[in-house]
Amino acid sequence: MPNINYEIKLDFKDVMLRPKRSTLKSRSDVNLFREITFRNSKQVYNGIPVMASNMDTVGTFEMAQALSKHGLFTCIHKYYNVEQWKKFASENPKSLPHVAASSGMTDADFEKLSQILTSIPGITFICLDVANGYSQHFVEYVRKVRAAFPKHTIIAGNVVTGEMVEELILSGADLIKVGIGPGSMCTTRLKTGVGYPQLSAVLECADAAHGLGGHIISDGGCTCAGDVAKAFGAGADFVMAGGMFSGHDQCEGEVIERNGKKFKLFYGMSSETAMQKHAGGVADYRTSEGKTVEVPYRGDVEPTVLDILGGLRSACTYTGAAKLKELPKRATFIRCTQQLNTIFG
Ligand code: 5GP
Repeated sequence: MPNINYEIKLDFKDVMLRPKRSTLKSRSDVNLFREITFRNSKQVYNGIPVMASNMDTVGTFEMAQALSKHGLFTCIHKYYNVEQWKKFASENPKSLPHVAASSGMTDADFEKLSQILTSIPGITFICLDVANGYSQHFVEYVRKVRAAFPKHTIIAGNVVTGEMVEELILSGADLIKVGIGPGSMCTTRLKTGVGYPQLSAVLECADAAHGLGGHIISDGGCTCAGDVAKAFGAGADFVMAGGMFSGHDQCEGEVIERNGKKFKLFYGMSSETAMQKHAGGVADYRTSEGKTVEVPYRGDVEPTVLDILGGLRSACTYTGAAKLKELPKRATFIRCTQQLNTIFG
């Protein structure tokens, strides 16, 4: 008999943050910077823990330059070669504390990652990212990378349940990427039926990670600054977004003009577009689990960053949190939808 879990599980849209009495005089009093010491690497991070995804359209060097100026982070996509990395590092040394080098799981990926990390000592973060972080093969890869790079901070995912968060942390990861199916370009829930409502995933995974001294990233599903605030309120240490950073000058790809309107191409990393670009097509045994869309062109990313940070400061002010770190302690969520809306809405 299959198990059915009848507990209510929630997405960002199913809740709102309740306002609370506050002694804060102004939004400008709110401190969005966090100092985080990672469990396994023992490295200390100081920045605003909002990240651009390691998608090839969004996780670019240009994005890292723009975001790091404000203390935000970029997981750089895995398709740059070592020479491109070296050029970026020599021209942008101040951005390096705010980037991660991403890697796949093949021997060639490992070799390239090793070359990047040994030739650029300023990179302290590694992002190991697979669609399904539940495979034993992935756990073993995390162990291998931890053994090879004992002092680097390892980001690993994606998972959505506490026991797998614990497994990855105990295998050497520091920051666990949480989210299966919530992404704006993701079709996993439609193609496979697999997924987990994101707010509940964050609440449960943060609890599991923090119990071990680890940390989590809420990855995917944020459509606005309010969703980012909800993810932090639910206990995320970092929030990663792709769609919110898409369509800007700093994204890879040309501006497309049609009928007087401007667009940029944005696509999932498991979309047919990405697989054609990086793997020569969709392999026979699999299906694409990502969409391709033309998103409106939005110019420089700077106003978008300021909008996200303004929204976060305001959320902290409404809930009485003087620092972003205090938001989970101040957060009370009001459920505002029926469960049926969560499934079909
Ligand atoms: P967004 O912020 O756009 O809602 O979600 C971004 C996240 O979606 C990424 O960080 C990544 O975890 C996930 N993602 C990116 N591309 C794909 C894809 O093609 N398929 C799936 N299932 N998830 C994707």
